[in-house]
Amino acid sequence: MFLIALCCSWGFYAHYRLNRLAVFTLPKGMSEFYLNHIDYLTGHAVTPDKLRYIDSTEIPHHYFNADHYGKDPFHTVPQKWDDAVKRYSADTLNKYGTLPWTIQYTYYKLVNAFKNHDTSAVLRTSAFLGHYVADACVPLHLTQNHDGQLTQQEGIHALWESRLPEQFGQQYNYYVGKARYLDNPLWQAFIICRSSFKCVDSVLRIERQLNKTFPPDQKYTTVQRGKRKITDYSPAYCRAYQKALNGMVQRRMRMAVLNIGSYWYSAWVDAGQPDLNKMIDTPLTITQKQKLAQEQLLYKSGHVILLPPSFGITNKIITEATSGRAAAKPAF
Ligand SMILES: [Zn+2]
Repeated sequence: MFLIALCCSWGFYAHYRLNRLAVFTLPKGMSEFYLNHIDYLTGHAVTPDKLRYIDSTEIPHHYFNADHYGKDPFHTVPQKWDDAVKRYSADTLNKYGTLPWTIQYTYYKLVNAFKNHDTSAVLRTSAFLGHYVADACVPLHLTQNHDGQLTQQEGIHALWESRLPEQFGQQYNYYVGKARYLDNPLWQAFIICRSSFKCVDSVLRIERQLNKTFPPDQKYTTVQRGKRKITDYSPAYCRAYQKALNGMVQRRMRMAVLNIGSYWYSAWVDAGQPDLNKMIDTPLTITQKQKLAQEQLLYKSGHVILLPPSFGITNKIITEATSGRAAAKPAF
């Protein structure tokens, strides 16, 4: 029996989904190139999380513990990196997370990749930028209480950002229209972080209330994840939390789709709108193009395809492995 594995970022399912859907927000001059590489952008949506295990300098890129900086952090912390370093030191900023500055840094890396017509850099940096922007949309990436460990809610991180998107993400409506030009990428990164930070209290409070009223012996169960059996929140508990959050996860995911697309689009504009079609080595076949056109149409109508199994993820990951008998609370 395996216990639930804790995640430090949107689960793989959500990251795949968000980078993939962001491609459909792009305008004409970009969409053909990005559609051509949509599987790369989807697959590498999770590479920054994998990198954390082999490169410790990657870790602070994924969060910004705003509440370390007092009650009103978004007025207290200077937005410019150099000003923030002067005030708090680089060590402190690294300790409590550098997410908004990582978005800014990666954004300018993407601008340069476009200017240099460097296909592999454009793709890798786009995938990474999409990941960081998506992370900024997750409320629990903005707090020191990132897994509810300060309020006896351990496990809430994976519940909110992995279990709920996996169980309900297939039914969300992600259609957000076209990507928009962002005048100030750093400012926008702080806007996203601030809006996520505002949700932190609700994320924790709603689960706390649910925990009080939900039958304790039905909160956890043994579930089958691929070939493994693990103890995890029961589908019924996930359902109740999803309902009580009143669409919050869907709203944050929609915000991520729009912003990922908008960051990609703005970087391309800032690089002088290079001709991306010249950077396509192997055009898609007619069948591939037709399939993507259908996927895009579906997205526009508020639906999504099942993620291709090639991403190593089944779309219905959670299946109850026990026959109603609740498992004991896992030791998180
Ligand atoms: Zn992450």
